[in-house]
Amino acid sequence: MWSAFKWSTFLLAFLLFVPTCRADSRSGHVVGEVKITILSTMLVSTRDGVGEWGFSALVEADGHKILVDTGGSPETVLKNAAALRIDLSDVQDVLLTHNHSDHTSGLLTLRREMMKRNPNALSRVYVARGIFWSRPVNGREGNNMVAVKPEYEKTGGKFIELTEGEEIFPGAWLTGPITRTYPEKNWSDLGKVIAPTGITEDTIPEDMSLVLETVKGIVVVTGCGHAGVVNIVTQSTKHFPGEPVYGLVGGLHLYRQTDAQLDWTSDMLKSFKVENLLGAHCTGIEAVYHLRQRMGLSRKTALVGSVGAEFTLRDGIRPGELEK
Ligand SMILES: [Zn+2]
Ligand SMILES: [Zn+2]
Repeated sequence: MWSAFKWSTFLLAFLLFVPTCRADSRSGHVVGEVKITILSTMLVSTRDGVGEWGFSALVEADGHKILVDTGGSPETVLKNAAALRIDLSDVQDVLLTHNHSDHTSGLLTLRREMMKRNPNALSRVYVARGIFWSRPVNGREGNNMVAVKPEYEKTGGKFIELTEGEEIFPGAWLTGPITRTYPEKNWSDLGKVIAPTGITEDTIPEDMSLVLETVKGIVVVTGCGHAGVVNIVTQSTKHFPGEPVYGLVGGLHLYRQTDAQLDWTSDMLKSFKVENLLGAHCTGIEAVYHLRQRMGLSRKTALVGSVGAEFTLRDGIRPGELEK
């Protein structure tokens, strides 16, 4: 009798545990609340906000916060956060999606300003391998991060360099460098990068995105999407098979794509069950509406992102006045 009880208890515990357990999941936590606020992009529909060629967004997930990218001018995110009454001094973590200055220029300003209020503010920056590699352009250094690194470290801040995907707080994953499964070429100029193996074409190998595992599916936040949005979503969903992509937020670098390329991208994203698309920065205005139409999304679920626009698990996209 006792042994039957023990076995049935064991079996029950096993059955309860297994469905929540994934091979690569550490915490097993599924995020219940998400709020993403755009702090830098081209379009602005908030008073006193500043538009620019750049990207930044504050991501809040079950009480954790991470700033994804830091804008294109040193002051933009500082000004926009103030205009939106968002306090960044209680944010410790930053993700720099890649080296380009339209994503990294605000880091030093923000760290120096916020550490006056909290020494830990913006003191930990996640990056992927390749972000500090030299990019020579006409005999000078074309990668600002080479100079930013020592300056940032002087403030007591730390870079954490990833070579593969990692969970950084419960339910929040960084992709690490993205495998280029499909030949997407979502960048403007093909320069050169000095990798440890030699000089090669710069495909922005460090391009990395944030993935939240939530109760409604996964939410993917991209910077410029240079690795290709389909490659990014392919890698992101591999860890969470069968789950829909409830939200895709950020820059997708589709503004130069032909109609045929946009058709392909739309069809691929549709196959991943993308439910909400907040296309900011380099996504392109025409590209957002092309994707909306072909993916069967609506005025509520696919929009151009502006400074101050939000995405939440509860309400989906909360647009600014202008892009409604
Ligand atoms: Zn870029
Ligand atoms: Zn960019």
